[in-house]
Amino acid sequence: MPLVTSKELLQRAQAEGFAIGAFNANNMECVQAVIETAEEEQSPVILQVSQGAIAYAGLEFASMLVKTAAELATVPVVLHLDHGTDFLQNVRCLRAGFTSLMFDGSALRLDDNIKTTRKITEIAHSIGIPVEAELGKIPKIEDNLTPEQVEDLMADPEQAEKFIEGTECDSLAAAIGSVHGMKESIQPLNIERLDDIRRRTGVPIVLHGASGVLCTREDASAKQVKLANHEGTIEDAIKHGVSKINVATELSMAFLRGMKEAFAERPNEKDMRKVLLPGKNAVKEVVRYYIRLFGSNGKAAKNGAVSGIQASEIKYHE
Ligand SMILES: [Zn+2]
Repeated sequence: MPLVTSKELLQRAQAEGFAIGAFNANNMECVQAVIETAEEEQSPVILQVSQGAIAYAGLEFASMLVKTAAELATVPVVLHLDHGTDFLQNVRCLRAGFTSLMFDGSALRLDDNIKTTRKITEIAHSIGIPVEAELGKIPKIEDNLTPEQVEDLMADPEQAEKFIEGTECDSLAAAIGSVHGMKESIQPLNIERLDDIRRRTGVPIVLHGASGVLCTREDASAKQVKLANHEGTIEDAIKHGVSKINVATELSMAFLRGMKEAFAERPNEKDMRKVLLPGKNAVKEVVRYYIRLFGSNGKAAKNGAVSGIQASEIKYHE
């Protein structure tokens, strides 16, 4: 089916208490792994392209990979820009047929972040495309921050209210304690902060850096991580209003692990496909785990995804 936008998907997820996985599209095998698993699990899915992926593959290749996958799929698929840090990048992606944008103005002063986000929402909304925006700063593991510093960068609930009013963005990537690029799932989230932001804004909240976040409470007790008020896992975050969850690092690590194992088993292999395929299969299992954790399995059939979109808007993206 043609690509769908993220707006109705996220609203439905929010209303029904599940979350949609946003998986990074870095090469053909990853895109296929995500789509095949989404089909098998009958889950709607977001394939997101980062600026790094655009630099690596080129905007045309990156977007065509996802568009082709969506055309062949029977489940709803969104083509989303992940962390577009400038205005032009967002406009280029809009022109390339992305059905969901993200402006990440977290490095800017608050009023500049609001101003640029607003410019992008005005343009994108005129053709029915929703925009995610970032408030607070979701750091990278390479920033080497202390837990206190991560806390200091979290989104401020009062600011969040003003931010939504000022930008009219459709979903909010609110910094609530996760860190990008972590290799281990050990980071707890600040659910109290999430609750406050959610209550004041009403928009679907996006969790970034999920690879590093504790998945379940059993996970937390097995890893001996103390949770504030016994909450702080991905499962808790979904219960408290997170509707889109980004997973990147863990997919990349799975792909490499699958390939390394294949190399170890067949050190003299000359057919690259025999090494790439185990990489792809390892990604599929990670995607399956998260789709089930997020509760989006079995949610494709109702297809509320396209119900709110005007036919003319869909045509634009065909
Ligand atoms: Zn992110």
